[in-house]
Amino acid sequence: MSTYTSHLTTSREKPTFREPPCKDLVTSSHVVSPERTATDLLDKVRAQAYRDACRAAYFGVEKVYKAEEFIKELDQKLTGGQIGEMTALTGGVKVVWKKRLTAKAGLARCKTRPLPSATIELSDKIIDDQERLINAIAHEFCHVANNLISGDLRSHGPGFKEWGRQCEAAFPDLGIKITTKHSYRSKFEFIWTCCDKKCGKEVGRHTKSINPKTQACRCCGGLLVQTNPVARTLKTRLECDVEE
Ligand SMILES: [Zn+2]
Ligand SMILES: [Zn+2]
Repeated sequence: MSTYTSHLTTSREKPTFREPPCKDLVTSSHVVSPERTATDLLDKVRAQAYRDACRAAYFGVEKVYKAEEFIKELDQKLTGGQIGEMTALTGGVKVVWKKRLTAKAGLARCKTRPLPSATIELSDKIIDDQERLINAIAHEFCHVANNLISGDLRSHGPGFKEWGRQCEAAFPDLGIKITTKHSYRSKFEFIWTCCDKKCGKEVGRHTKSINPKTQACRCCGGLLVQTNPVARTLKTRLECDVEE
């Protein structure tokens, strides 16, 4: 009887095997080098950038019919369908998506003569998520209602604000905020990410004005790599270095 078997029968313990030292286990794959960590981080950032691009493409299609649907819903809940009826002969409330509208999320154009008509222009650049879409359309719809139903030509006066209050109350689950000020965070065409895992800082520019070969991260001196395929805002925790 070998020593091993006698040990097993007497103590009733499960044998514990020690893995023989294997050459593969102690080579590079288990040693975390700073370069490798940086590559892992960049892979994650690039994967996220790819997901962002897919989401942006999907939203670009989705926003068109969501806008039309939401305007109908607003009209039903806020005016009992009056805007739809008033503008029926001019094709209802028209929605135009504008690439060049960048100063604000939306704009409402109303006419009462010869026939009542309403057009809501929406910014392709600024409206890049559901929340902005809902808030921008609600805001512009309040202008339309204030103009066509209340006959009020002032833009953000008490009449508009009253429609805003009614609108917020009509959709409690959507958390609509009708404000008269815009607080959109700037989006950047060019974003660089710091490769240092602990830092991960993002730097945004409207032009390709950073050369990663000569410029390092201002926080930690780490390597910067360009990471975004679509224009987007910087991630929240990394907002400190915004210029232009
Ligand atoms: Zn407005
Ligand atoms: Zn850094």
